[in-house]
Amino acid sequence: MPAPTELAGRLAELEHAGLKRRRRILEGAQGAHVRVDGEDLLSFASNDYLGLANHPEPVVAAQLAAARHGVGAGASHLLSGHHALHHRLEEALATFVGLPAALLFSTGYMANLGVLTALLGRDGAVFADRLNHASLVDAALLSRAQHIRYPHLDLGTLDKRLSESDARVKLIATDAVFSMDGDIAPVRELMDLAARHDAWLYLDDAHGFGVLGREGRGILEHASPLTPHPSLIYMATLGKAAGVAGAFVAGSPDLIDWLLQKARTYVYTTAMPPMLAAATARSLELIRAEPWRRERLASLIARLKAGVAQLPWQLLPSGTPIQPLLVGSNEAALRLADGLRRQGILIPAIRPPTVPEGTARLRISLSAAHSVEDVDRLLAALHALAAT
Ligand SMILES: *Cc1c(COP(=O)(O)O)cnc(C)c1O
Repeated sequence: MPAPTELAGRLAELEHAGLKRRRRILEGAQGAHVRVDGEDLLSFASNDYLGLANHPEPVVAAQLAAARHGVGAGASHLLSGHHALHHRLEEALATFVGLPAALLFSTGYMANLGVLTALLGRDGAVFADRLNHASLVDAALLSRAQHIRYPHLDLGTLDKRLSESDARVKLIATDAVFSMDGDIAPVRELMDLAARHDAWLYLDDAHGFGVLGREGRGILEHASPLTPHPSLIYMATLGKAAGVAGAFVAGSPDLIDWLLQKARTYVYTTAMPPMLAAATARSLELIRAEPWRRERLASLIARLKAGVAQLPWQLLPSGTPIQPLLVGSNEAALRLADGLRRQGILIPAIRPPTVPEGTARLRISLSAAHSVEDVDRLLAALHALAAT
C-alpha cells in the first residue's frame, strides 16, 4: 500500500497495467436502456434482474412514505430508528423465504461483516468457497477466525477440512449464486455437511433472491425440498433483483436475537430510511405476484446461449441471469467491451483481482426489462466483432 509520496506513481502503474478503474456517469434511471456519459446505451451491466429499480409502484410507495414519515430514520435501530415500516418488512421477508425471523441491514456488505463478526472470534474458523464475494472475504478477516478457503464447489475438500479442524465454532460461507460466474452452490449437500460437523451454514443469496424459484424466493426455493436446519443463516440483498437497497439476514429467532445484540454493523449505524423499506415491501409483492419476470429471464437466457454458440468466446455454464462470456486476457476483454460500446452496448469487462488471472470476461447480465430485440442486438454486435 502506498505512502503519501508513492501515490501518484502507484496510480500510474495501475493505468499502465490496464487495471485503472473509472466511473461512468449514469443520468436518469437504471434499466435496460440507459444514458451514460451523455450517450444512450443498451445496458447489460446492472443487477436489476427483474427491472424493478425504476418500477412505478415501489417509486410511489417511497414517495408516499417520504411524505408521511420523512426521508431519514434519524437514529440506529436500537435507539429510536426502528420504524414500523422496517418491522413489517422484516416479517414479510422472513415469511417469504420460509424462515422464522429476519433482520434488516443497510447493505449486503454490512450484513456479511456483521454476521460473521457476531458469530466468530479467534477460536473460530470460516470455511469459504474460493470464489466467494469480496465482502465475505473481508468479513472472515474482520472476524479474526481462521480463514480456510476450499476450491470452488469442492465439497469433498470442504468435508475434509471440516473434519481436520479443531476450531470451536465452524461456519461454512458461500455465495448461493456466484456473482462473477453465475453458477449455483449445492445447498442441500452443504446443509447436510453443516449439520454433520455442527457448523453454521451461511448462504449469501445476493443474486438468487427474487430470481431463483417459481415465486422468486431464492436459493431455498430452488433447492427445495429442503428442511432448514437451525444452523442455516440466509442473507439476501435488496439492491439487486428487489431494485432498492439494503439487505436482510434470516434464520432462527435466537440467531436473529443474537445478531440484534452483537452485530456491530447493525448496532452502530443509522437505520435505513423507512421510505426504502416501504419501496422494498412493494417490490417484494411484485416479485411474488409477477412470475412472468422470471419466465422472461429464462427465455432471454436460452436465446443468448443459443446465439452465442458459434462465437469464438464461450459462456461459462450458468443458468442464472449472470452470463459471463470468457475472454481470457485483460486486453482482449477490454477490446471487446470497447467494440461493443462503439455499437452502443454497455457490458463491463471484469478483470483480476475481481476474477482469477487469465479469466477476464464480459459479465453479461440479463434483466426482465430486456426485450428479445435487445438480446438479438447484442448477439449481432458480438458476431460482427468476432468477424473483424
Ligand atoms: C452485491 C453483493 C454483496 C453486497 O451487497 P450490497 O448490498 O451491494 O452491499 C454481497 N454479496 C454478494 C454475493 C454480492 O453480489
